[in-house]
Amino acid sequence: MPAEARPGPPPKAPRPPVPFLDLRAPYAELRAGLDAAWARVMGSGRFVLGPEVEAFEAEFAAYCGGAHCVSVGDGGSALELILRGLGIGPGDEVIVPAHTFVATWLAVSATGARPVPAEVDEHTWTLDAAAVAAAVTPRTRAVIPVHLYGHPADLRALRACAGRYGLALVEDAAQAPGARVDGRRIGSGDSTVAFSLYPGKNLGAVGDGGAVVTSDGELARRIRLLRNYGCEVKYRHEVRGTNSRLDELQAAVLRVKLEVLDEWNARRADVAKRYLAAWDGLPGLTLPRVAPWAAPVWHLFVVRCARREELRRLLEAAGVETLIHYPVPVHRSGAYADAGLPAGAFPLSERLADEVLSLPIGPHLSAGQVERVVTALEEAFTRIG
Ligand SMILES: *Cc1c(COP(=O)(O)O)cnc(C)c1O
Repeated sequence: MPAEARPGPPPKAPRPPVPFLDLRAPYAELRAGLDAAWARVMGSGRFVLGPEVEAFEAEFAAYCGGAHCVSVGDGGSALELILRGLGIGPGDEVIVPAHTFVATWLAVSATGARPVPAEVDEHTWTLDAAAVAAAVTPRTRAVIPVHLYGHPADLRALRACAGRYGLALVEDAAQAPGARVDGRRIGSGDSTVAFSLYPGKNLGAVGDGGAVVTSDGELARRIRLLRNYGCEVKYRHEVRGTNSRLDELQAAVLRVKLEVLDEWNARRADVAKRYLAAWDGLPGLTLPRVAPWAAPVWHLFVVRCARREELRRLLEAAGVETLIHYPVPVHRSGAYADAGLPAGAFPLSERLADEVLSLPIGPHLSAGQVERVVTALEEAFTRIG
């Protein structure tokens, strides 16, 4: 058979010198430990709800400083099962940020409740407590702040607001494992938090995964039932649950990666520090701000620029890949076209969708790659003027 007729994979586009994310790098760094973890599970014959899951839950709860961890199939399910565990459903309202990943809203919709958006804060781009207060109705049951881009929402203000109106506070920390508010880790103390363990997140599996961390033992027990067809004892189905379980292979991988989470978050913070120092004062560019009470984990490094498309093209030409988180506000997406929320309903969130740009950041960017991003952005701004 002539070479050109042989079937094979389609040619790949060359990777840019600074790709947005390279998920081969974590494996390269942790290969020995990950291979051993994987082999241990393969040889054990236990694949669902076994010792690795139990150990991961104990270790992740301890890491967060939380009382209970229940692992689940993904981050969206973590949110949904928390809400179901709280008894939230049809007829209820749950306040969510207008500026977030769609999964925050979808988790509410999946319970039959209605997601009610509220505007975010101008500086942290996370849920604004005053906007939440204005969105409360007699049907409101809970509020879901999102620790977006790895920067925590203002939990002090949001906790006070939730307390005032008798709402459950459920945190979406998909992007923020390890972040701190007033020196305390997300998930510690008196809280209920959903985490995503999706491969690209700060603590990433090699497939889907999620976790709930909560101080509420009874809620943890209900979520344990819900994730496993409603049973704790096999074939005794106490409630109408679902199948949303973390598997043993993922748990084993996550245990290896949890050991380096703090170090990898620190490497992200080093990159952020370099970017912030290099670009301080560039006209036309808004850098991410860190609130004085917050220690973010830099899931993303997001800048704002009115001439974003131009900036993006110039960076791409300089070999720097960027992404947009997120280009369409949730209330303007097809998924919520029937929600009756017109353009202009959330002006800041809509402006953010038009202006935000995510630059490469992560524990595996080389010093050379970081400097390439620094220079590329500076040069782009001399062109944009
Ligand atoms: C990733 C993410 C989710 C959903 O997590 P999955 O594991 O993909 O289901 C929810 N909320 C936010 C803010 C996220 O970034």
